[in-house]
Amino acid sequence: TTSFTDEALIALDTLAGRTSELFAPALRIGVTGLSRAGKTVFISSLVHNIVHSGRLPVFEAARSGRIAKSFLEEQPDDAVPRFQYEDHIDSLVKTRVWPDSTRAISELRLTIEYESASAWNRLLGRGKLSLDIVDYPGEWLLDLPLLGKSYAEFSREAWELAELPVRQDLSAEWRERAKTASPAGPANEMDARSLAESFAAYLRACKADRRALSTLPPGRFLMPGDLDGSPALTFSPLPPPNGATPKSGSLHAMMERRYEAYKTHVVKPFFREHIARLDRQIVLVDALQALNAGPAALADLERALTEILACFRPGRGSLLGDLFARRIDRILVAATKADHLHHTSHDRLQAIVRRLTQRAIERAGVEGADVDVVAMAAVRATREGTARQGIDTLPVIIGTPLEGETIDGKTFDGHSETAIFPGDLPRNPDAVFEARADDPMIRFVRFKPPKLERGPDGLTLSLPHIRLDRAIQFLVGDRLA
Ligand code: GDP
Repeated sequence: TTSFTDEALIALDTLAGRTSELFAPALRIGVTGLSRAGKTVFISSLVHNIVHSGRLPVFEAARSGRIAKSFLEEQPDDAVPRFQYEDHIDSLVKTRVWPDSTRAISELRLTIEYESASAWNRLLGRGKLSLDIVDYPGEWLLDLPLLGKSYAEFSREAWELAELPVRQDLSAEWRERAKTASPAGPANEMDARSLAESFAAYLRACKADRRALSTLPPGRFLMPGDLDGSPALTFSPLPPPNGATPKSGSLHAMMERRYEAYKTHVVKPFFREHIARLDRQIVLVDALQALNAGPAALADLERALTEILACFRPGRGSLLGDLFARRIDRILVAATKADHLHHTSHDRLQAIVRRLTQRAIERAGVEGADVDVVAMAAVRATREGTARQGIDTLPVIIGTPLEGETIDGKTFDGHSETAIFPGDLPRNPDAVFEARADDPMIRFVRFKPPKLERGPDGLTLSLPHIRLDRAIQFLVGDRLA
């Protein structure tokens, strides 16, 4: 549980934030999702499209021509790395390769000057809003439950999960090592390190496994950020029995101390300094990959989404409830990479994500925030066409598959445009939860990033997308009224 000092500090922080906002309004938007969900691509394309006046018809302020100017500014938090926007755009636009993915937290400030929609407000002059976009790994959010768990509880749960049939083979090496360690023996750095490394290797193997097993804490074991190798990350659960108070100087005591240090010095400050200050949140999910991998992967995505949404649950009784001095009032759950499907399936994808989200919300009990869903492609790497197959015409997508991608036994060289029939999603979203594991509904290859397209003014060039404007409107539209 949190101490009084933590809460007092947060209240002060938030108060300070509020005062400075009286002078320059800012909206803090969190962008998260498990690794490879599309966070880097989303932020890059959002900023590029706003700054370069891309095609954003659903973004009302842009459509009605009220955006006077938008530009990047120095971010307010000196201790947080800057989101490397320019490098990512260079990759996407000049080299046409996908940018490096999110490995840690980063931030970018985009400031928009706009004419107000109301005549009354226009009398007060031009409005100005800064968007502080905070990019961070979803893996880190999944650490929140640890705050309520002792080392003994954490160890017991980790051990039980590791012994489940689906994880048995992946965890075998770590369990073997943990069983031969002597918890009551003297603490030894080399033992601690080898246990921590083999535990981390097991967590990574779960992530890489095609059965798409759910992500297990500690999140920094998967995404260490700049803490790789530090003592707070050099621990591991120990096999039961581990309930007794450990003898001081023992390996057990060392592990417990480091676990507590991880909570105090890594998890709590992350929530206090970053998550508790967010106004709005977008959670990106790779629903297509899950659909491609079958119902078990989909159930797993639902579980991860439930845990992620539970982190934003305000109010009493939740671990973070009291930390939230300010409330996240809007959450958008977005399935990215919709450009892998023909547009006839976009609404169906959205319906599937809506169903997933509803189920997650019911279980996580998120209340008080406005939650919406969208199926989009932050960057659209394909166009559409039709292909004849016998007497049928099939809707296809056309793009350049990345080198080494394969479909129907054919391997691509990374240079040739190809038409692919991706398959369609069922009209009834519930059908995907009952589908057969060996019969994936869609066919998935990764495409090369596209060329820029001309914006509505015919002059500027920006990244093509699908429904990115809908996401922007939901996240910031009302603040530019
Ligand atoms: P992150 O780990 O959440 O930062 O994920 P990235 O933004 O780096 O995205 C991971 C990969 O997903 C990229 O390298 C692309 O291959 C793919 N991707 C992400 N967004 C899109 C999209 O909108 N369209 C397509 N076609 N691919 C995408």
